[in-house]
Amino acid sequence: MSDSVSICTTPYPVGPNTRHQTRGVVVSWGNKKVQVGGGAPVVVQSMTNTDTADPIATAIQVKELALAGSELVRITVNTPEAAAAVPAIREQLDKMGVDVPLVGDFHYNGHKLLTTYAECAQALSKYRINPGNMGGGKKREDNFAQMIEVAAKYDKAVRIGVNWGSLDQDLMARMMDENNARSQPWEAQAVMREALVVSAITNAQRAESLGLPGDKIVLSCKVSHVQDLISVYRNLSSRCDYPLHLGLTEAGMGSKGIVASTAALSVLLQEGIGDTIRISLTPEPGGDRRKEVIVAQEILQTMGLRAFTPLVVSCPGCGRTSSTFFQELADSIQNFLREQMPIWRLQYPGVETMNVAVMGCVVNGPGESRHADIGISLPGTGEVPSAPVFIDGERTVTLKGDTIAQEFQKIVLDYVQRRYGKNG
Ligand code: SF4
Repeated sequence: MSDSVSICTTPYPVGPNTRHQTRGVVVSWGNKKVQVGGGAPVVVQSMTNTDTADPIATAIQVKELALAGSELVRITVNTPEAAAAVPAIREQLDKMGVDVPLVGDFHYNGHKLLTTYAECAQALSKYRINPGNMGGGKKREDNFAQMIEVAAKYDKAVRIGVNWGSLDQDLMARMMDENNARSQPWEAQAVMREALVVSAITNAQRAESLGLPGDKIVLSCKVSHVQDLISVYRNLSSRCDYPLHLGLTEAGMGSKGIVASTAALSVLLQEGIGDTIRISLTPEPGGDRRKEVIVAQEILQTMGLRAFTPLVVSCPGCGRTSSTFFQELADSIQNFLREQMPIWRLQYPGVETMNVAVMGCVVNGPGESRHADIGISLPGTGEVPSAPVFIDGERTVTLKGDTIAQEFQKIVLDYVQRRYGKNG
């Protein structure tokens, strides 16, 4: 080591900033209670893309999302047929033993649907209200008031979710006029960001004045650009203590959607901002809707904020890897672990924190495998065709031949039962 590098005298700080203090909002269905904010772990939520008017298809997708780990599931309630189907969806879920609270997503006609379909209003656990999609002037105020009154009557939580694609035009026009009167007007984008924050907080205060308790209100201000989202939420969290729902709206498809959401949310979560997250991915045609749940969980887990599923550490592979076998093993083990979680979660508490390593050769394989709870180091090009397995840092058996994958899966299963089972 060079003499010119001085050694730090204290360890570097690690981990997120202290969480921004927010009120706790409990979203419940029967005995199931999910707390958002108030120091509770960051909640994962998702949204269906089925036609809500089809209660069976929607209930099936809600169940899939809930089993994947979504703690709240939102469904769009956009038509009278959809509103009429909500009680049937709830009933179907209850019959299947799925107690995940449902959030209704309302726009334009939400006031009519919530006041006309009382059973829908009662079957939902939370309403998402977009104050920018309710008309203008007095009509907007009346429609908003009707929805808040229904929430207060049935003791439901509400998310006041403003979105820059549907920002309250009256407010925006007024703020632009005020901006023009400034000696040094702001850029239009800065006015828009401020309008989002003002709209969210003003509508939350109005909801309270209409009789909805402050501990029933969650806020969101969604935009589709990473830097705008970070800026808006930093500002919003400094100006109120309502719990905040984070999400980059219209994040996009494939890796772009995942990367943009992760970039924005990671910065905010690291700063202690955010009480619940949803990742708005555009699914590939025929794609799996559960992907948005997995991405949300992986953001929280890789940041060390929560644990949901044992994670597989694997090397990227390089010219030393002799085949695709190690990639296939890493993939099959991760899928195996994820598929077990709906049952393991109940049977093996703590298993979600387990780390598994699948490494491609002897360079970093044994070292990384030793750091994991269970690791396997596969043979690289020119290495002896055997795969040592490490458990709790100790080298144990060495696997060979065509059954390495099956044997390793069995070793993982035995380890889970032994370590996390009743006698573990
Ligand atoms: S562990 Fe081996 S195979 Fe994997 S990236 Fe490193 S050198 Fe390549």
